[in-house]
Amino acid sequence: MNKTIEVRNPRTGISDHTIVPPSKNQLEQQCLNLRQAQIHWQQIGIVGRIEALQQLKQAVLSQRDRLTEALVQDTGRLSISALEIDSFLSSIDRWCQLAPELLQESEKNTAIPFIKLQQTFVPYSLVGVISPWNFPLLLSTIDTIPALLAGCAVMVKPSEIAPRFIAPLMKAIKTVPDLRDILVFIEGGGETGASLIEYVDLICFTGSVATGRKVGAAAAANFIPAFLELGGKDPAIILSSANLELTTSAILWGSVVNTGQSCLSLERIYVAESIFEQFVDLLVTKAKSLKLAYPTVESGEIGPIIAERQAGIISEHLQDAIAKGAMVRCGGTVEEKDGGWWCYPTVLTQVNHSMKVMTEETFAPIMPIMPFVTVEEAINLANDTIYGLSAAVFAAEESEAIAVARQIDAGAISINDAGLTALIYEGEKNSFKYSGLGGSRMGAASLKRFLRNKAFLAKTNSVADPWWFDS
Ligand code: NAD
Repeated sequence: MNKTIEVRNPRTGISDHTIVPPSKNQLEQQCLNLRQAQIHWQQIGIVGRIEALQQLKQAVLSQRDRLTEALVQDTGRLSISALEIDSFLSSIDRWCQLAPELLQESEKNTAIPFIKLQQTFVPYSLVGVISPWNFPLLLSTIDTIPALLAGCAVMVKPSEIAPRFIAPLMKAIKTVPDLRDILVFIEGGGETGASLIEYVDLICFTGSVATGRKVGAAAAANFIPAFLELGGKDPAIILSSANLELTTSAILWGSVVNTGQSCLSLERIYVAESIFEQFVDLLVTKAKSLKLAYPTVESGEIGPIIAERQAGIISEHLQDAIAKGAMVRCGGTVEEKDGGWWCYPTVLTQVNHSMKVMTEETFAPIMPIMPFVTVEEAINLANDTIYGLSAAVFAAEESEAIAVARQIDAGAISINDAGLTALIYEGEKNSFKYSGLGGSRMGAASLKRFLRNKAFLAKTNSVADPWWFDS
């Protein structure tokens, strides 16, 4: 496993960084060390754990410039890197506020008057987190923070495509005495991820359906729980009553933010036939106003395509759609500039479900739009997919939109907006179909995933129980 992995810079195309994954023995030893140190972490209780995480927050703030620089190198984008750091820091505060109440033990009477119930929890000792490249910091910490507060030690294996942020983050972690022995980010690729599953008690995986299947199977073989957060092909339904000005702005943001490289990007847009042309014209005008973040990282809104293999997939989807009759209303090409790959915001019409761009995850700033006549037709089209991550519905009345949302097979539906599940952390949701498996990563339920319930059932009187044997 110790084979060096070259890391490409998404803006230049040059491999200007390398990582060296740990050997299997090193990984196993590190996991044993984490497991040993977790005993103290659990013993210091929630107050001690909150204190350590607040120290981490300060340490990250002191490393902020280095962390930003590393994330910019990893992803080629500036404002989203800053946003990732802010979201990470605010997630520490949010979980520190929520955790004490969630970890309260309770005592209750039961249906049998002389039996009392004491409900307690025991954290899993060692949690493994495997994360993707599209939001390197955010997605490697989204499960990590609640797992730490629950009392677990955590080993994180971020993507080998965007690993530069690991060094400054580990530098910050190492300054916090109670954290440095129970939280480790390791470098490595798929092989390291696969090995990690052998040594942990629970695995949180974020990535593609194809890898998620392997992770799920390996977790089952090791008899550990797996929480899988996988791909999507999110639909938006725009009913004829929708406010076109607001809707086109929300669709544009929901489809092209982060260059469309988000699991919850809107990748299919179904618009009522009566407003179709008006909607397309307005969306095209707005899409054309966006600029590439090129030549400098400070310019424009659309960053480079982070993963090179992604550029090939996007071209393939575009060519497939055009060959089958799609009309390009703006954008439509994947271009190489100074070694990086770029895709302008693209609007496609005359699309249908025989095209990859309507059925497979494209992960690009592409908005394929189809008209519908009846609402039933729109719902059938939205549900005609193997995915069920999230969706959006737009209408003049919230109740009209919710009536449609109830019929969409997905875990989180934004009403009259897009991508709200990334901003509103309270909303618990499960992925439908192939978009994932396991409990909600959002909301209070997220932290509970890292605890095993334990019940003490105490007899409180000294009278023989009616169900005992007579002897
Ligand atoms: P990927 O599946 O290729 O890789 C994800 C991680 O898995 C990487 O760290 C990789 O090294 C590791 N890995 C690869 N093979 C492995 C194996 N056999 N065992 C264990 N780990 C292994 O995904 P990606 O291309 O990095 O990320 C993009 C995908 O992630 C898209 O499908 C996207 O929709 C999805 N995603 C989902 C969410 C969500 O919350 N549902 C969020 C972001 C991204």
